[in-house]
Amino acid sequence: MDTPLNITPISSWFEGLSLPLIIAGPCSAESEEQVMDAALQLAGIERVKVFRAGIWKPRTRPGSFEGAGEKGLRWLQRVQRETGLLVTTEVATPAHVQMALDYGIDIVWIGARTTASPFTTEQLAVALSHSNIPVLVKNPITPDLELWIGALERFNRMGITKLAAVHRGFYPYEHSRLRNIPKWELAIDLKSRFPDLPILCDPSHIAGRADMVAQVAQHGLNLSLDGLMVEVHPNPSAALSDARQQVSPHFFSQLLQKLIFRDSSSACSEYVDFIEQTRNKIDSIDQQIIELLANRMKLVEQIGEYKRDNNVTVFQLRRWERILESRVEYGERLGLSEEYIKNLLRMVHKESIRRQAEILGSKSQPNSNE
Ligand code: PEP
Ligand code: MN
Repeated sequence: MDTPLNITPISSWFEGLSLPLIIAGPCSAESEEQVMDAALQLAGIERVKVFRAGIWKPRTRPGSFEGAGEKGLRWLQRVQRETGLLVTTEVATPAHVQMALDYGIDIVWIGARTTASPFTTEQLAVALSHSNIPVLVKNPITPDLELWIGALERFNRMGITKLAAVHRGFYPYEHSRLRNIPKWELAIDLKSRFPDLPILCDPSHIAGRADMVAQVAQHGLNLSLDGLMVEVHPNPSAALSDARQQVSPHFFSQLLQKLIFRDSSSACSEYVDFIEQTRNKIDSIDQQIIELLANRMKLVEQIGEYKRDNNVTVFQLRRWERILESRVEYGERLGLSEEYIKNLLRMVHKESIRRQAEILGSKSQPNSNE
């Protein structure tokens, strides 16, 4: 059993905040003009209450735009003064925390790469412990629910009760249609283990592409998540980071109008019931199974092309036997019957043969053994 987290509801963080909490703004603060342009347009959208912009950007490779740094905090202060929006940025070191507090930033978020490090989250929790600032904790890059919970607990133990999780998906080790695999089942598990903990959805980082943001956002809302953090840039194609996934303020405003919001006045307690939650997890897993089957098929096709181009017709009965044997053994270890795995594999294999036969041309006999 988990020790419950001590949580202050979002509606008590600041006056005028309610669920669903909508946070929007560019991936990075790039210039004062870009920040003000985005903020003024977003301030005109009623549902938007918090403006986001990364000041320090954790880039995978050095040399990419690494954020405006301290001067960007002054731009965010201007957003506070001129639009009345609350502002939030990512902090990744105690020095960032100090600067964010000095400049009166309203909310901070912990990025996915930072959540993955218990040493760093502990240091940040200490640095934030005497402030009253709300903290949003993104999930770690890897689908490790305990690591995510551990980070939330570290902040909570330091007295931070204005706490929310942000679900931004997980690094896809296999090719996926989306930038990050949502693995919604993890967000659902987190919600069921900590019903009071608000969870926001970041559809931008899950989708990785502007045209999928709405669909992912709707999925998050359907699961009763408590709000959205969306990347919105005045000129997405010119963005210095995450250009493909950012949407314009106009697009975002239309997107918000199309989204169906559940009545979330008491979203936590009214959280979807057990069967619905479990079905949602199954849906998410099925989606991953289908993506894996598609990845498998691509490899089968590559072998088919190789066979065609090299004129090889190798029949490897041993290969098929080994597939069956190893998968059946693996399945049995996981409590799945031999018959079930064999039937499943026969179906998968039959379709692989059909695809390879197509590639090899109708005159060749299907001789696939993947
Ligand atoms: C971001 O929000 O721009 C960001 C860097 O997010 P994440 O930590 O989820 O990758
Ligand atoms: Mn980003």
